Amino acid sequence: MKFLIHTYGCQMNVRDSEAVEALLIEAGHEKAASEKEAELVIVNSCTVRQKAEEKAIGKAGNLIADGKITGMMGCAVKRLGPELFKKLPRLAFAVAPGELLKIPYIKGGDPLSAHAGTAFQAFVTVMTGCDNCCSYCIVPTVRGHEYSRPADDIVREVECLAERGVKEVTLLGQSVLRYRGFPQLLRRIQEIDGIERIRFTSAHPGGCTDELVAVYRDCPKVCRHLHLPVQSGSDRVLKEMGRRYTRAEYLAAVAKLHAFDPEFSVTTDVIVGYPGETEEDFEQTRMLMDEAGFDNAFIFKYSPRPGTRSAALPDDVTKAEKERRDQVLLADQERRGQARNDRLVGTVREVMVEGPSKRNKARWSGRDGGNRIVVWDCNGSGKDSASPLCPGGLVQVRITEAHPQILIGELI
Ligand code: SAH
Ligand code: SF4
Repeated sequence: MKFLIHTYGCQMNVRDSEAVEALLIEAGHEKAASEKEAELVIVNSCTVRQKAEEKAIGKAGNLIADGKITGMMGCAVKRLGPELFKKLPRLAFAVAPGELLKIPYIKGGDPLSAHAGTAFQAFVTVMTGCDNCCSYCIVPTVRGHEYSRPADDIVREVECLAERGVKEVTLLGQSVLRYRGFPQLLRRIQEIDGIERIRFTSAHPGGCTDELVAVYRDCPKVCRHLHLPVQSGSDRVLKEMGRRYTRAEYLAAVAKLHAFDPEFSVTTDVIVGYPGETEEDFEQTRMLMDEAGFDNAFIFKYSPRPGTRSAALPDDVTKAEKERRDQVLLADQERRGQARNDRLVGTVREVMVEGPSKRNKARWSGRDGGNRIVVWDCNGSGKDSASPLCPGGLVQVRITEAHPQILIGELI
């Protein structure tokens, strides 16, 4: 049967979709080239914000209305349980995260280590679930307790991926720096032939130890980029959120990374409009973001999730005010991104090639170690798979022009 999976939400969902794809192919099914061609469509849902959940359910509803056999997986399934079938009575099946083998048409296998495709990048799960209980977050409810996979399993999986041509692995977990022996795990992966880049996400500032910095120093494959969600710059709000760090501790962690390498790229997540967030709290967040000098930031408007601690608090920042704070932080980040990237003009970046740029096919695009998008003019190259100029290859690009979210350069 020809199937297609639509994925919403975070990298964990992308990873789950890939595992399901691999297991369906193993069971003799075929990936459809388009939705039209698909006989079965699976919607992998997110529930971290209400909007995300609505999108996935809306998509499934449209598919069903079009007469497609439609199933659902992912976090919204877990949150809604049987209620989902009240919203979508003709849904073919609904399978929660961690139960992927219950998807009909899958015969068996190990979802944690199943990989599909021939891409040069792969996600590797190191931890599932989450044992933090940030007041606003539904992830622990839908993804369950924290579980760390044995290091030997992870290393073996990365070795297999390397043999299949994977060049870049991203280790996944809600709080990967809580993995016991994470620095040692990175050192083991550094030794695997064929792997050129190692990334990991997400991180908690508490894990930014000297031991981690030593790994960055010793292991050239470990990319100098860290996604370090801060959520708020106000100590009062951080405490209410249960984040277990202060703004000073957070800033010290970033300062440590920048002291080691001023070009170290730090990105973050911020929530605006948390219950009771005052103008002063918000200003604290603005100031923290400037001080930290983020290379990129994802701003989220607070949305109460049923059953979380903060859902019991009045959602008292108005929609308009959340929108305003969102826009202010986005504009700040535009300026900051420009200033951060301006400093890189004239430098040479090592870039892993991804392919023709989406906006301009005459240009090619890839990412530097800091996860910055780098674009360059490419005169028809890229067809010769032996050249570094094909997806997954490493090239040197001298930066000639900087934008807030993108660097433009010329191939050396
Ligand atoms: N484990 C990661 C975050 C996973 S959720 C960490 O703690 O670093 C991804 C992002 O969604 C969070 O960083 C947060 O910014 C946002 N988010 C989570 N719950 C939210 C909510 N109820 N409303 C708005 N944004 C939320
Ligand atoms: Fe959610 Fe906090 Fe766990 Fe991240 S660390 S998934 S924000 S509970």
